[in-house]
Amino acid sequence: MSAAILANMAILLLAILLFFFLRKGKVLEDVNAPLEQFGYFVGVTVVGILLMRYSVVVSGARYDYRFLLYALSIKYLGPKVTLPSIGVITLFRFVWGVDVNSLSALAFGVILMLTIGIMYNILKKYVGPIQQVIGLILYIFAIRIVLNVIIYKNIARDFELYMVLVASSIVMFGILFVVFSRIVQIQERSEIDFLTKLRNSRRFYQDISDMKRETKEMVLSVIDIDYFKQVNTVYGHLAGDHVLQMVTKAFLEFERDSFVFYRMGGEEFTCLIYGKSLEKAKSLLETLREEVSQLDSGLKTKEGTTFHVTFSAGVTTVNRKNPITEALEAADKALFQAKDNGRNQLVVADQFSTRNGEVEWLQ
Ligand code: GH3
Ligand code: MG
Ligand code: MG
Repeated sequence: MSAAILANMAILLLAILLFFFLRKGKVLEDVNAPLEQFGYFVGVTVVGILLMRYSVVVSGARYDYRFLLYALSIKYLGPKVTLPSIGVITLFRFVWGVDVNSLSALAFGVILMLTIGIMYNILKKYVGPIQQVIGLILYIFAIRIVLNVIIYKNIARDFELYMVLVASSIVMFGILFVVFSRIVQIQERSEIDFLTKLRNSRRFYQDISDMKRETKEMVLSVIDIDYFKQVNTVYGHLAGDHVLQMVTKAFLEFERDSFVFYRMGGEEFTCLIYGKSLEKAKSLLETLREEVSQLDSGLKTKEGTTFHVTFSAGVTTVNRKNPITEALEAADKALFQAKDNGRNQLVVADQFSTRNGEVEWLQ
């Protein structure tokens, strides 16, 4: 019996580690792509079958960590992956014979498929992630107990075994949650700039390389705060930091669905804009530029008026024809032009094709 429980633990643990590795620690982001969903469906189903293969068998009934697999799968992969997996695993149960136990497992599987999504949504509304998973484990356990009462007329059927499985799964999940949360936290910190809370340049290049495969079209802007050295010189470095935070707060507030900002270093930023035309992106950035130039920095000029900070930006498109390296260069040139034109403005990089078909850029 203990060997089967250990085998179950090992299978589940390996599956969780593999999942964590595959998702590069981004466990909380939704699994949306159909192919990815199908892959996880196959994975969860195989793991469920393996868990069943190494069940503790007591008078024909199979005891294992399938319930923990379902709870974790609902939480981290969603119902679209989990419900079909529960279905297939439940049907596969009949490989071990058609009897009252497999029929009870069928009833159990059907009830789970019908209700676990609803249960998860309720839990999600009221409690945090740890409680959600523990709540799901207890919910699944409760269904089992109710079925035992109905089918076997015995509430205490293998109660001790249930207790061992439920308690150990809660402890296992608790430990994994703490360890993985720490890893995710460290990973997030390595990609977020401490002063401004914007994504950093490491994340920028990571996002770009992740995107290449999807060959997405987007708009790129390179942004630089105007006369920032003077802010430091006149008001001091701390005031400079404050101004940086004020401007980047406006950037973050602007980060709706389509805008993502990155601090590349110092007072230089990039912005990726998804699903907008160059004109639309530019006009939205103009709004942001205007907004930032109106912000009250809390600093006073020599004349006693409010000091306003501004930025200049170069804007361009990124697509298959104009890959990111060229686009960055073009946006940089456009930014330089914006500075040259007197700052506090946006310049769009225009492109034209040369004779040999290579793309060249003009500001
Ligand atoms: P321009 O309008 O041409 O961009 O002028 P500028 O003064 O902004 O130009 P430059 O890029 O040369 O100056 C950037 C300055 O930003 C230099 C550096 O001292 C300052 N800086 C960089 N990072 C930080 C930071 O984290 N905090 C503060 N306070 N200053 C920073
Ligand atoms: Mg500057
Ligand atoms: Mg600069």
